This record gives sequence, C-alpha cells and structure tokens, in this order.
Amino acid sequence: MAQTHILGYPRIGAGRELKKAQEAYWRGEISQRELLAVGADIRRNNWQAQRDAGLELVTVGDFAWYDQVLNHTLLFGAVPARFAQGAADNKLDQYFRVARGRAPSGEPVAASAMTKWFDTNYHYLVPEFSTGQQFALDSDWLLDEVREAQSQGYKAKPVVIGPLTYLWLGRAEGDALALLPALLPCYEQLLQQLADTGVTWVQIDEPILGLDLPAAWRDAFAGAYRRIGDAAQSLKLLLATYFSPLRENLPLAFELPVDGVHIDCVRASEELPAATAALRDEQVLSVGVLNGRNIWRADLVRWRRELKPLADRLGERLWLSASCSLLHCPVDLDTEKKLPEAQLQKLAYSRQKLCELKELQTLLQPGHLVGASPAGEKDTGDSTGSIACRAGSHSTDGYTPFESDSIDSVVGASPAGETDSANSAASIVCRAGSHSTDGYTRFESDSIDSVGDELKDSWRPQPYAERAPLQRQRWQLPLLPTTTIGSFPQTDLLRQVRRQFRSGEISEQDYVDHLRAEIAEAIRRQEILGLDVLVHGEAERNDMVEYFGEQLDGFVHTGNGWVQSYGSRCVKPPIIFGDISRPQPMTVEWSRYAQSLTKKPVKGMLTGPVTILNWSFPREDIPRSESCLQIARALRQEVLDLEAAGIGIIQIDEPALREGLPLRQSEHRGYFDWAVACFRYTCSQVKAETQIHTHMCYSNFNAIMDAIVALDADVITIESARSDLQLLLAFAGKNGGYPNEIGPGIYDIHSPNVPERAELVARLQKIAEVIPLEKLWVNPDCGLKTRSWAEVGTSLLNMVEAARTARAEL
Ligand code: GLN
Ligand code: ZN
Repeated sequence: MAQTHILGYPRIGAGRELKKAQEAYWRGEISQRELLAVGADIRRNNWQAQRDAGLELVTVGDFAWYDQVLNHTLLFGAVPARFAQGAADNKLDQYFRVARGRAPSGEPVAASAMTKWFDTNYHYLVPEFSTGQQFALDSDWLLDEVREAQSQGYKAKPVVIGPLTYLWLGRAEGDALALLPALLPCYEQLLQQLADTGVTWVQIDEPILGLDLPAAWRDAFAGAYRRIGDAAQSLKLLLATYFSPLRENLPLAFELPVDGVHIDCVRASEELPAATAALRDEQVLSVGVLNGRNIWRADLVRWRRELKPLADRLGERLWLSASCSLLHCPVDLDTEKKLPEAQLQKLAYSRQKLCELKELQTLLQPGHLVGASPAGEKDTGDSTGSIACRAGSHSTDGYTPFESDSIDSVVGASPAGETDSANSAASIVCRAGSHSTDGYTRFESDSIDSVGDELKDSWRPQPYAERAPLQRQRWQLPLLPTTTIGSFPQTDLLRQVRRQFRSGEISEQDYVDHLRAEIAEAIRRQEILGLDVLVHGEAERNDMVEYFGEQLDGFVHTGNGWVQSYGSRCVKPPIIFGDISRPQPMTVEWSRYAQSLTKKPVKGMLTGPVTILNWSFPREDIPRSESCLQIARALRQEVLDLEAAGIGIIQIDEPALREGLPLRQSEHRGYFDWAVACFRYTCSQVKAETQIHTHMCYSNFNAIMDAIVALDADVITIESARSDLQLLLAFAGKNGGYPNEIGPGIYDIHSPNVPERAELVARLQKIAEVIPLEKLWVNPDCGLKTRSWAEVGTSLLNMVEAARTARAEL
C-alpha cells in the first residue's frame, strides 16, 4: 500500500497562536517559558493532525521561531559575528536579533536581510557567509524536537535543508560553493546524531534542483551526497525537490545515494514517467500531487487514475504527499467561519489536505473497487473521490456513495460513531459533497494562447514619443516634478473608524464622511508642502489587493486563511473563485472628490492586474493568464471611468509583477508575454494626454528590464534608495535603459529616519548623472501608510525643497 507523508506543516497555529505569542514576547508581555510552551503546543497539534490522518511518519524540524533558513544558520553555527553578544545566555534572543535586529535582551543590531523563498511570498533570512566561513554543528534544537515527537509516541521524520540549497540561499563574500567542504562535516555529524535518536528517515530538501543551475553547482551534488550517504549508514534519506520541474537535473537527483526522491507533480506532472523510469530498485518515489501552494480540493479521481498502475507496482515504495511544504497553505478549514457551506465544500486547507492524502491512499489500495473503468468513474458525477475532510455535520445532500463502503473505509481512522455526531469539532469527519473540480481538466500550461487574441491590441495607439509632448503641454509640470506613491499614514484613528464601520458600530455615511475628511486633510497638507502631483492618500483601503478584491465579483475573502509571510507576519490572500468582473466603479468617487479640492492634478490610484492575481489564490481550472485578463478588463473600465471623471494622471501599481515568474528561465518569456500585455490592456484606451504611471517596489529590476520597458507606462516610480541607487543603473542603461520617465525613490520609507535636505540634493545629483533631467521625477521609495504624519510632513518638505534646490542648481 502507498504511504503518506508531508514535507512540512504550517507553524503559525490554527488561530495564529505563534504570531500572538511572538509579538507578546517581543513586547515583554510574556516570558520566554510561556513562548516556548506555545511553540510546543503548536508542534503537538501539528503532529496530532498528521497522526489523525493516518500519516505514518510525522515531520519534525519544520517548526521555526521565525524562519526555517535561520534555524539552519544556527544549526551550522553560521550566525554572523555581530550577533555574538549575549548569545551564551540567551540563544533565542540571539536568534530574534538576527531576524529583526532586536530582542528583549541584548543590544539592538542590524538584522540580516530577508528575501523571497523561491517563487513564494514567504521570506527567509539570508545567511551571510564571510570569507573562510567556519561551521560548527549546534543541533540541540533539532534533536530536542525529534525527542519531543518521539516522547509523544510519534515516528519522527526530521527535515533539513540540503547543503547545496543552504549555500545557494546565502550571500557570500566570495563563492558560496567553495564553502561546501567546510559545511559537509556538519551534515555528517548531524546524521550520526539523528541515527542515534532512532529515526529511520531523514528528509533533505534540495529545491535548487529545480533551477537552471550553473554546472559547478550541479557537479557538486554527487560528491556531497556521497559523503552524506556514507555518514547516513542505516538512516534512510529522502531527497525532496519542489516548485519547479527537475528537467536536466532529474537523472542526477535519482542517481544520488539517497533512498527516495520527492518530486512536485503539481508544477511538473509531466515528469512522473521520467521519474518512474529513473527510480532505482530500492528507492522510494514520493509524489507531491496535492497542491501545497493553493487552497482547492484535489482532483483525486485524476490522481487515482494516473497513479494506480504505479501504486500497484511500487506498493510501499510509492509515497503520496503535497507538492511542497504546507507552510504556504492556510492551516485548518474548520476555523473558517466566514464562508458559506457551498464555498467550504470546494476548499482544502492544510489539515484537509492531510485527509485528502488518506483518501487517495485508500483509493489506491489494492483491491479497492472503483467503477469498472476510468470513464465509468466520471459518470458517477459529484461523488467520485470527492470526500473532503472537515469536522462538522456529515452532509449527505446530493451524495451518492462512491461505492458501498468508501466512506467507512476512509473514516475508519477516527473513532467509530463520530460521523454521526454533528458538529463534533474534535473529530475528523470525511464528508461527501460536490467536487470543486467537477468536470474540469486542469490546464497544463499558463500560456498566452487562450487570451492572446484579445491582448493583441493592448498597446496605446500613440507611442510614448508622441504622448509625451501632449502630456507636457497639458500638465505644465516643472522640471523634476514631485509626487508620492499613493498612501498616506493610516492613523490609529483611521483604523479604529474602519473597525467600527466593519462591526456595524458606525453607519456607512459616518464612515464615508470620515474618509472624505481624511482625503481633504491629505490634499490640504500636500498643497502646503508644494507637491506637484497630488494623491488622495488611500484612506479607504487597508490593503491594496483586498480593497479591489472586495469590490470585484469573482473574489472570496476568507476569515482565517492566513499564511506566513515572514516572522510573525501573515497574509490572507483572497481567493479567485470564479470569473472576475466589476459591478461598479471602485475608486472614482474618492478620486473625484480629491480632485474637486485642488487645482493641482490628483493621481488616480489602482492596483494592477498582475499584482492582484499574484497576491491571490488563483483558480486551477483556467490558466492564470485568463484570470489576469479578466482583472485587466475590470481595471480598464475603472481607468476609463477615472478619465471621464477628470482624472488625467493614473497610477497602476505592479509591485508583484516579478512574483508570478516561473523559476526556469525558459518560461519567463511565456509569463511576461501575457502579464505585461494585461497591464498594458488596462490603459490601452486612454487618451494620449492622459498620463499613466506605474510603481514597483524593491526588486531585482535588472533581470526583468525588458518586461518593465514593455509595460509602456509614461512614468515608473521605483524603490531604490536602500540599494544606494545600484538598482537604478538598470534604468539608466547605456543600452536603452528605461525609455520613458522615471521616479527613483530618493529616500527609504521603511525607516523612521527623516532625510535631510542636503542628503536628498546630493542623491538627486547622483541620479541626474545617469538619468536625463527631463525624464526625472522626485518621490519617496514607496507608499507612506506605515509612517506617522510627523515623519511624513518633514520628510516631504525636505524632499520638495531638495527638488527646488536641484532645479536651480542642476
Ligand atoms: N500605492 C501603494 C501605496 O502607496 C503602493 C504600495 C506598494 O507598492 N506596495 O501604498
Ligand atoms: Zn512600493
């Protein structure tokens, strides 16, 4: 019989207990002992959930007080020297100082950098390697957690990041790969220690096998794993890969001296045959068939059909799993109180995915009878394999048993009788219901094909060179025009008023009146400051995606669909549940009101289609490109309505353009083709003299310059101050660069420090060396919503004065 396991489970807790405890600890409200107890509870619950679903091995080592990569930095004794102070007395506080610069004990210090974990919205702490970096194993935390699981009666499968991936993720003064010989002894010792604890399997994650690796990195795998394999002795090693196809690295992965390989069948189901062929006689094949990155119930019928021959052949050597760690998926649908039953029926959060694994295992059991043929399975309609796992009443509406004993066989894991006890929250009850994937075939590629026709004429009729003089004539802006990125401080009062409105304490009229007062105040302040292009300040939004999602048809907003973004920060992405459309204007009244208060131009402010898509859970029954086009259609109407309302400068933010980018270079073109065209589509029908802006936050712009240019925005503002303008060089480019106007952020809005005027003038001078003055705008790095008015007032005053000085002097 096929086995079930997972690569990792969310660590935030079903009610975000970890976040609450972390933040309370940082504020000094709870002791370290209390914090540790919360972590232990979360681990206990997570293991319990895995056992409840019949998983034989529970995953250990996936818990982290902040970040799993930082765990490894501690594990290998690679914490940079500046964090050494006080470490001996309080290791956890040292850990937090690496992560966030401060902790209840110890001196504040500059935190390590954070960056995105592959193509997810999870951020890890970047290891910092010095030249001649030494490593020394410090495995107490991991061994403790292994023993903790064992003492609770579990068979633990520890998970560690593999040596190549760990080095790849770090920033080294020289070549990080050169540190491999120094690092490997840590792995050798660690495996011996783990063997001593009595574990059988260790999972080693090497997701970089799904990247376009330089030859030297690829070649390093064989030698490294030979040493690791020797050290492992009786331990069994499962090499885990995810997020991307293995392609040229596939034979390599299976040839390594490991006892099993996990592949991501959601991102690369086409590799299943090759993986099966490459599998050695004794090796286990772990197939990640449930999507660890999304919230839809799985198409178990499809997987039963596709895996059945393999399951029969491999028996226990076939392991069923989610594509990647469930870290990227919300915790438990049972805590989801906001959604109607019909929607709940279609979803599976992490705990439900555990149960789906169990179902799939049952469906694949030898002798498990299913309708005579795959075609026959389909005919049974709603019921086929569509048993989701949630506590609560056992709904039988419209349910035809899959076959006579299927429900019983699946529910078998939970105590008898629970199926009947309605709303028994503690139990896992597998229930029947209509399947989200009714009659759908999962699309296989995200190409432009299905949307290409409509996107063909996404370009504005006049090129920038023709638009620019018209815009100059219309707006009569000074050289180096000043503006901001959109949001102004979201004060405590504003948040409180929004809460009161949402809870029904104040009326809609009161809420609207308050927002109008906020807008009027923002306009008044900007006029006094002397900014050239004003914004209304975004008082009406608390989130740049949620605000639009709530007004567009086709989105669903969960109550508890939280996913860790970094540390204690979680995000709650909306779900794209169906076709997207705009029932009515979304921002027009706010912008119109703001414009009525001033003679200066007020910029309209929208979130772009690609960002809305990439910060939501996408559909799986149509390509992302199609949803993106649907959003673009809705935004195009909004843009035209803004224009008709007299808003002649419109900013369409795309900070997440890069996030949907596939990890393999060869797929970049395909993604950008539709993503960039969808952006252009939103503004393809505006008049030439209407000026379109876009904004992007900190990113590796260099690598995606072609796509940025192809957005064809009249003005782009970018976050660049923190990189000491290094990022800007991509836009300056001798060989083209950015052809239209550009506003490089001249001060960092993430810091509470108020920039001095002289410093800003100097920075503008430096910028002017690489960007022609007539193309240059002056603005902060990003929106100001997280700052206070006191900081914003002085910073912007200095910025406006710096622009005046620069106009006179440059
Ligand atoms: N217009 C948004 C703001 O100012 C942009 C935010 C962002 O780029 N993330 O808040
Ligand atoms: Zn930004």
